Amino acid sequence: MRIVLVGPPGAGKGTQAAFLAKNLSIPHISTGDLFRANISRQTELGKLAKSYMDEGNLVPDEVTIAMAKDRMEQPDAVNGFLLDGFPRNVSQAEALDQALKADGVELDGVLDLEVPEDEVVKRIAGRRICRNDSSHVFHVTYSPPKKEGVCDVCDGELYQRDDDTEETVRKRLEVYHTQTEPIIDYYAAQGLVVTISALGKVDEVTKRAMDALKGQAEGREQRDEDKNDSRGDGGE
Ligand SMILES: [Zn+2]
Repeated sequence: MRIVLVGPPGAGKGTQAAFLAKNLSIPHISTGDLFRANISRQTELGKLAKSYMDEGNLVPDEVTIAMAKDRMEQPDAVNGFLLDGFPRNVSQAEALDQALKADGVELDGVLDLEVPEDEVVKRIAGRRICRNDSSHVFHVTYSPPKKEGVCDVCDGELYQRDDDTEETVRKRLEVYHTQTEPIIDYYAAQGLVVTISALGKVDEVTKRAMDALKGQAEGREQRDEDKNDSRGDGGE
């Protein structure tokens, strides 16, 4: 299966992507990992991306697209992949379509994770991270530490990342609405979008996503069969 995962910041995309990729036995391709891998291996694309990042600029679409293409052509992605964080605007989506077409394949579905905006703000702005280990993550409401401001695991000090304030979150949501959300309409026109609620426990959301993708795949198969049937009828 070839799937694109979309959703606002705070929808739990990374977590869901990891579980879904595992369930579907396909690689999870995230732009963050792509950038890190290319930069650490010092590939030409990595060096190019780094030169933009070092100057505090956004990496141009062409560079991101080239990295994604390169990754999708690796042997483990032959039978499918789950894209997370790419495409993030309509021009990247168009470039992806062209790249897939050139390989004679197409997307099977676009999974849209939906979360109310206030919930996104609550999720992100309540996040507290341990100074000793960034994998020790708490939430003031959903998973509070036993002692306020102190990590349960290692007694480290908990803090709020600069990126996690309400103001920054609202800005990131604005960017998502203007740049990324239009790809949902773009893919909806191709009949590819399935929207599910990202509220609830992680495993519940994964189950919902798996069911939705299965439904989407069956729907497509049915449509293809109908198309073939009607073609057959017409020919007789
Ligand atoms: Zn800690």
